[in-house]
Order: sequence, then C-alpha cells, then structure tokens
Amino acid sequence: MARIHQDHLIDSVADALQFISYYHPKDFVDAVHDAYNREESKPAKDAIAQILINSRLCAEGHRPICQDTGIVTIFIKIGMDVQWQGVTMSPTDMINEGVRRAYLHPDNKLRGSILADPAGARKNTNDNTPAVIHMEVVEGDKIEVDLAAKGGGSENKSKMAMLNPSDSIVDWVVKTVPTMGAGWCPPGMLGIGIGGTAEKSAVLAKQVLMDPIDIQQLKDRGPSSRIEELRLEIFEKVNALGIGAQGLGGLTTVLDVKIADFPTHAASLPVTMIPNCAATRHTHFVLNGDGPALQTPPSLSDWPEITWDVGPNARTVNLDTLTDEETSTFKPGETLLLNGTLLTGRDAAHKRIKEILDRGEELPVDLSGKMIYYVGPVDAVRDEAVGPAGPTTATRMDKFTDMMLEQTGILGMVGKAERGPTGIEAIKKHKSVYLMAVGGAAYLVSRAITEARIVAFEELGMEAIHEFVVKDMPVTVAVDSNGEAVHQTGPAIWRNKIASGEAQPVYFK
Ligand code: SF4
Repeated sequence: MARIHQDHLIDSVADALQFISYYHPKDFVDAVHDAYNREESKPAKDAIAQILINSRLCAEGHRPICQDTGIVTIFIKIGMDVQWQGVTMSPTDMINEGVRRAYLHPDNKLRGSILADPAGARKNTNDNTPAVIHMEVVEGDKIEVDLAAKGGGSENKSKMAMLNPSDSIVDWVVKTVPTMGAGWCPPGMLGIGIGGTAEKSAVLAKQVLMDPIDIQQLKDRGPSSRIEELRLEIFEKVNALGIGAQGLGGLTTVLDVKIADFPTHAASLPVTMIPNCAATRHTHFVLNGDGPALQTPPSLSDWPEITWDVGPNARTVNLDTLTDEETSTFKPGETLLLNGTLLTGRDAAHKRIKEILDRGEELPVDLSGKMIYYVGPVDAVRDEAVGPAGPTTATRMDKFTDMMLEQTGILGMVGKAERGPTGIEAIKKHKSVYLMAVGGAAYLVSRAITEARIVAFEELGMEAIHEFVVKDMPVTVAVDSNGEAVHQTGPAIWRNKIASGEAQPVYFK
C-alpha cells in the first residue's frame, strides 16, 4: 500500500509547473520543427523560427516560454487504497500550495494572471492560485496527475456547440476555426470533446490536449475508429484553410487534432473545441509512495539549431522621433526594427484610461506621440531589464482604439494577431498603424528590451503602464494606415494556393 505524504504532492506540483514554464514537450518541439521545414510562406516560416528560437532560449535560461504563464489545470486520479501521511490539508489545498510555490519561485518567478471576483473587482490573487482541479477517485494505490498551464489567449478562443445529432462535426469545426482569428497563437493543437453533456464535452476537450502529438503515426497506421477518422479529416481540412502560423497565411495551422468522446443523450450532440497554443505546456507524474515525482530535464540537443534574422530589407524605426507622416509610409507585411521608448498598456490600463478621460481628468502619463505595446510582462530576475514580454491579443483592445487614437494622441499600437473590424476602422480613420510581434516568443522579444520601469497604475501589477526602452525589436506591419490587414490577405492567398493544388498543406510524409 502506497504511503503518500502531502509534501510529495506539493513538491511534485511545484516542480512540474516550474519545468513546463521553460521546457516545451519534446513532441511539440519536433512537430513545430517539422512545420518549419515544410513551411513555404515566408512570414509564417519567420514566425515559426522565432517560436523555436524562443523555445530553445527558455530551455537554456530556465525562463518562461511566454509572458502568460497560464492558468493551472490539473487532472488528478487518487487511488482508493492510497494511505495519506502527515496530512493537514485537503488535496485541493496541497495542489494550490504547489502552484503557489512554483509561481513565487525566486529564480524563475512566474506571472500571476489569476484574478478573483472576475465579474467585479478582478483582483489579482498574486500567486496564480487557485488551480482548476478535476479530481477523481479510482481503483489502485497510486496518484496520477496530468497538469497544464494554459494561456488565456488560446483559452479565450474555445468554442462550444450543442449540435443536432445529424449535423456534421467536421463542418462545424471548419466553419468555426476561422472565427477564432489568430489570438490562440497557431501553430498549435485542437482538443475536441464530443458527447456527454455540455460541461462534459468541455472537460474532455481540455483533457485530451494532454495527449502527445501523434497524427503522423495515426496516418501511417490508418484510422481504426470513427474518432480517428475524424482526427485525420479535421486535421487536413483545418490546415487547408491556409491560416498559418500567427494567422499570417501558411501551410501549418494545427500540429495535431485530439478528440475524446463520451456517450450522450439521444437528442444531443455536444461538441467543445479548445485550442492549445505556441506555449503548449503540460506534463504528467505518478506518486506511488517513493517520494515526490520530479521531472527529468531534457537534453538541449532535443531543440533544433534554428537561426533567423530580419533580412536586409528591415526598416529601422526611431520611436522617439516617430511621426504620423512616417507611420503612413509603413507597408503591410514590412518588417520594422523598433528602437527607443515604447509604452505598454493592456486591458485594465485601457479601461482605466477611458474612465479618467470620461471624467474629464488628466492622464498620469503623456501618451501623445507614443506607440502602445499590448503586454503584461513577467517580473525580472537576475540581470534582466524585464522578464518575458511577448504581445497579448490585440482584438481585446479594439473597442478602445478609436478613443485612444482620438483622445490620447498615440501614434499606433503593437500587439498580437489580427485586429477586428472596429480596430481596423479606427486605424484607417486616424491614419494610424498596427504592428504585430510573435505571440509565444516572449523571452526572445524581451531580449530587445534594455530598460523597463512602471510609469502609471502601479497597483495593476503586470497590467500597469510600463515604459520600455527597446533596441532592434522586430515587428511586422499588420494593419497599415489605409486599413490593409495582413491577417486578411495572407490566409486568403494561402487558402487559394492550397485549393488550387499549388501548395500542399499537410505534413504527412
Ligand atoms: S503563446 Fe499566445 S496564446 Fe499561448 S500563452 Fe502565449 S500569448 Fe497566450
């Protein structure tokens, strides 16, 4: 009979969360590398290169893959014959203590992203607790844990439908994926739960994302069930959409499609789809009474040696002398190297700015003539100016964009993925510009930041307005001053190339 001390669980959870903050799973690295080798779209290939370089840097430096270090999700199976030793906490409290220790680790402090009172004060819990825990009691005398740290950008793109039993699941997925935009940081995976009830399908979709990438092996051996047929069909049809890495248009949008099912009511066909992003982070451990189950560090040789540079045509931009006239010459798809002062601001700061301006008061910081970077960075450790600081999803700021351009005098914005119609309309109206950095390449991006300080709303933590000094920070012009958007033109080009047979999207050998 396994005797398990509460510290075994606490220490294993803390170790696993630190581990997945800086090590991508090997199957994910291999699949992204395959996608890189096969990619024909230059913007998408460049984005994948940055994701792979970032991944290796994080593995070397033991720093987070993404500034969004996720909401912790745990599936725990506790054997009925397990004997707990020295227990003063519930399993839920043990898990949350492990989360707390991991996220407050002094050598690799992770970003606290969890807000209590979500419909009200939205106050940061500061230690990333509580985790979302799915607990099950099973036969046996061990404890099995699957654990993930899921980014908000990809979680936000989850979709759920109660289909009619005669509806096509494939049609629903293929119709729905383009509506998700690129805020889920493709290339990634789709977890699909089918059946049960509404909430059961969602839990299945989340749980199946913990499975390893094996679509190539499935293709090689051939499907042996309806679920496996669906995986292959959805994989091929979603990649044929041409969305590509970061939504820039390309051959690989998904690296795998995972599906789990459960019996359902005769009247129902619940389906939930949850994407996993460029910061796919999960691992597994088993406690059997032999002490904490600590993760085994991978070899750095698991990571490909990819190099990437911006090329000879990148334009160097001085943010401290930038004008409307200059931003109006930026071309869609052009690569820029930003130098100088960049201010940050995301959801809470935008809301606060609007409230201040609505009251007719003065802002605590002068935004005129500045570019705003949508980011919530990780705190610095050691000699860093700032921790990982990749872009957050820009569409969440669309509703503020007209106000920001009209009333604060900002010149433009830097963020992740596409802008929605409201954002593009505001950019066009004010002859502004929107630049994108690669989501999921946060540690790489932070290397271009040489100085950082908070200049307003300090109490908002990572959502405070920071002033960054950047040196050669690479970005792409995603919406120009005429409203032309590369996230519309890029996927359309690659969808047509794939449809015409000029390009082959699927990376089956
Ligand atoms: S890779 Fe993108 S979606 Fe994933 S956690 Fe990072 S910013 Fe969020």
